[in-house]
Amino acid sequence: MKPDMTSFPFHDLAPALAPGRITINLGAIARNWATLAKLVAPARCAAVVKADAYGLGVDRVVPALSAVGCRTYFVATADEAGHVRALDASAQIFVLDGLLAGSAQSLASNAAIPCLASREDIAEWQVLQRTLRRALPGALNLDTGLNRLGLSQDDIRHIAKEPTRWRDIPLALVMSHLACADDPTDPMNEAQRTRFETMRMMLPSAPASLAASDGLMLGAAYHYDLVRPGYALYGGQAFRGARAPVEPVVTVEACILQVRDVPVGGCVGYSGTWRARRDSRVAIIAAGYADGIPRSASAADGESGGHVAIAGKLYPVIGRVSMDLITVDVTDAQKPIVRGDLAELVGPNITLETAGQSARTIGYEMLTRLGRRFNRIYTAGDVADG
Ligand SMILES: *Cc1c(COP(=O)(O)O)cnc(C)c1O
Repeated sequence: MKPDMTSFPFHDLAPALAPGRITINLGAIARNWATLAKLVAPARCAAVVKADAYGLGVDRVVPALSAVGCRTYFVATADEAGHVRALDASAQIFVLDGLLAGSAQSLASNAAIPCLASREDIAEWQVLQRTLRRALPGALNLDTGLNRLGLSQDDIRHIAKEPTRWRDIPLALVMSHLACADDPTDPMNEAQRTRFETMRMMLPSAPASLAASDGLMLGAAYHYDLVRPGYALYGGQAFRGARAPVEPVVTVEACILQVRDVPVGGCVGYSGTWRARRDSRVAIIAAGYADGIPRSASAADGESGGHVAIAGKLYPVIGRVSMDLITVDVTDAQKPIVRGDLAELVGPNITLETAGQSARTIGYEMLTRLGRRFNRIYTAGDVADG
C-alpha cells in the first residue's frame, strides 16, 4: 500500500502537533444537565465536577453549566472547591471528602460546605465556627451501607444526644451514597433508601440528597431535594436499566504513525506476547498508557483486549500497550489505512463503557485518566458537530 504523501491530516492538530486530540462537547454537557434537571424536577439538579470535571476540564465545564442554570456543585477536595469558587462566585459548593484534617479554614474562606462524615469532622467544623464567630453551613454524610465515608447510625445517636456540639451548624444538606445503584434490581437500593429515611428522622429537617447518575434513574423516590449526577453529564451510561437520557460528550482520537507488515510468525510489542498467525498488517498508533489507554487493554495472542475504530470500523489492539504506543491488527481493512490517519479510541464507535470493559475497568476510569499530551478541543455545538 502506497503512503499518501499529499494529505496532511496534521493540520487539524496544529499548532501543538500533539499525537492526538480529545474533543469535548460543552454544549452536550450543558444539554445533559438541563435534561436531567427537567427529569428530576421538582427536585433540584447539582453537578459533580470533582477530579477536574472527570478529567474534562473544570475551567470549561463549570462556566458552561452555570450558564444554563446550575447553581450547586459537588467536588471531592478543598482545593477543588477553591477552583470552582473562582469560576462561580455565588454557587453552592459541597465537598464530598468532608473535612480533611486541617482543611476547615480553606473551606470556610471559599464558602464551601463540607459533607461532614465523622464526629471528628463535626467537632472540627464547630471549633472553626466558634473561632470565626459566624455560622458555617455544613452537610451531613450518612452511611447507609456503603461503609465508605459517612456517619453511622451510632454516630447519629451520639450527636443527637449532644445537640450543643453541633446544633448551631446550619444544616445545608443531609446526604448518603448508594452502593449498587447501577443495578435497578438490586435490593440494596431500597434497603439503603429505608435506612436513609430512618437516619434522617433522627436529625433536624434539612434538604436531602441520595442519588447520583444511576440513583436518579431509579425513580422519583430516590430524588429527594437534590440529585448529584457526575458521570451522566459527561455522557456516561453506567445504569444497567433504561438508557440515561444523555448524549455522548467525548471523542478521543490518536494519529497512526506507521502501518507495517508483520509476516506470519512475527511477534509484536514488549515480551512478544502476540504472534502473527498469518501475514498481517499492523498500525502503530500514537497513544499509550501515558495517554490514558490502560495497559490492561493489551491483548496477548489469542486474548481479546481493547479496540480502536478507523474510518468507522473496529480493529483489535494486539500485544502490549506501551507508554506511548499501541499496535492494532488492520489486516482485514477493506480500504487503505495510512500514516497520518486518525484512530478513534473513544467516540461514536467506541463508548466509554466498551472502552472500559475491554480494558477490564470502567468508563469512569477511562474518562478521569485521559492524558495531558493530546490537544483538547472544546466545542459548543449541537449533536451534529459533536
Ligand atoms: C462521585 C460521586 C457522585 C457522582 O457520581 P456519578 O456516578 O458520577 O454520578 C455523587 N456522590 C458521591 C458521594 C460521589 O462520590
